[in-house]
Amino acid sequence: MTLSPDTLPSAALGAELWAGAHEELVGRLRDLIRIPSINPPDPPGPETDAAEYVASLLRAEGLEPEVIEPAPGRGSVVARLRGDGTGGDPFLLLSHHDVVPVDASGWTHPPFAADIADGYVWGRGAVDMKSMVAMEAMVVILLARRARAAGLDPARDPIPGLRRDVLFACTADEEAGGTDGVQWLVEHRPETLRAAGAVNEAGAVSVDLAGRRFYPVMTAEKGRETYRISVHGTWGHGSMPRDDNAITLAAEAIRRLASPGEPRLTGPIRALLDGVERALPADAAAFARAIADEDPRRADAAVGRMCDDMYARALRALLRDTISPGVIHAGIKYNVIPGEAVIEIDCRTLPGTTEGDMREEVLARLGDLAPRCDVVHVIGAPPVEWPASGELYDLMCDTIRAHDPDGIPVPVMAPFATDGKWTALLGTPTYGFSPLRNEPGERFLERFHGQDERVGLEALRWGLPVLYDVVCRYCG
Ligand SMILES: [Zn+2]
Repeated sequence: MTLSPDTLPSAALGAELWAGAHEELVGRLRDLIRIPSINPPDPPGPETDAAEYVASLLRAEGLEPEVIEPAPGRGSVVARLRGDGTGGDPFLLLSHHDVVPVDASGWTHPPFAADIADGYVWGRGAVDMKSMVAMEAMVVILLARRARAAGLDPARDPIPGLRRDVLFACTADEEAGGTDGVQWLVEHRPETLRAAGAVNEAGAVSVDLAGRRFYPVMTAEKGRETYRISVHGTWGHGSMPRDDNAITLAAEAIRRLASPGEPRLTGPIRALLDGVERALPADAAAFARAIADEDPRRADAAVGRMCDDMYARALRALLRDTISPGVIHAGIKYNVIPGEAVIEIDCRTLPGTTEGDMREEVLARLGDLAPRCDVVHVIGAPPVEWPASGELYDLMCDTIRAHDPDGIPVPVMAPFATDGKWTALLGTPTYGFSPLRNEPGERFLERFHGQDERVGLEALRWGLPVLYDVVCRYCG
């Protein structure tokens, strides 16, 4: 069934209102970028400033948001809009307001200035994920205004047209695993996050492929397991080299660990490739067919032949459990042979790979070095997967199609982890759905944590009413 754009909830508001809402959205995004809510915070404080800023926007609309600060300076903000209670469990608008640190030297525009230039808002967090914070806040604001226009109190009365409650949660500490943010809320305030469905970062951003525009909606994310490996050698004098120099052993261990593992096709990636194949003309569809080849080696080779570097890196990561060395510590002086080295590795697991499986793989790759290594599991979270079908998923897809008749929604897995790992513990299906329509050729994946992070003004203009329609349709 095709959904007519004229029947969408956003259409009832009119072009003039959307032009104003876009201006507000951009202004609020710029305000947020100018709050340097870097994680790890040094000293703590700006995260709470960001939470307070968002809370102030909602308060100005008559809402009663709550800033929750489990540790000094690590504030998250939550709010609830009421439905009339006939529509089932709530819907959650999830986001995080913290950002990763930045080396400002390589930036075209200062990372916390929020300059507007060349059709973009520039700055740390423009993509990950203050644009979505601002979009979700704007949707809440528009709903609150709907209540006030009807003479109601948006903090207490049901919002006209809403049958479910809408939860808003914008958290601290996502970029360091969520301990003082979403994890704390899951453990102490689960009612702020428990929902029939949720939208979060990183999905529904357009990707152009063979002249078609796809919108990968994130239905799954890989797991992550971090290990600290102590490599034991023998201390000695640098004048007489030893084979069991811990640095030499660690270098060999790293070489073995970092080599790409066996590819394996999982359900979410098969669904992505099927969706891409169906949408492409026959010659280009060979691309997807080759990547979905029964033989994972041929599949992997196809990735290299047919994708540009950015997508090939992502696809390769989605076809296997990965190991990326992130830290190495060794040595005390140039003329002392080190007897100890410590390596930390970042493993990302496919659906079906347990922590035990990953540990076995690490030990297998270490091979004859394993007896010299202590492998300690530091932190981890399993992969999560939600259905690429059903009321919410289908509704997200046909809302995209209604706003972009040439748009092709497909399910996708994220190679990275999000706060969705934590909301999964509450049973809240959490989709990556932060709708943006980018210009063809936009290197969006490289903007995450990258230099010159920026988001397109027109991408935002398209995305806000899409998000509004998903909320109104699912909750109405
Ligand atoms: Zn993020």
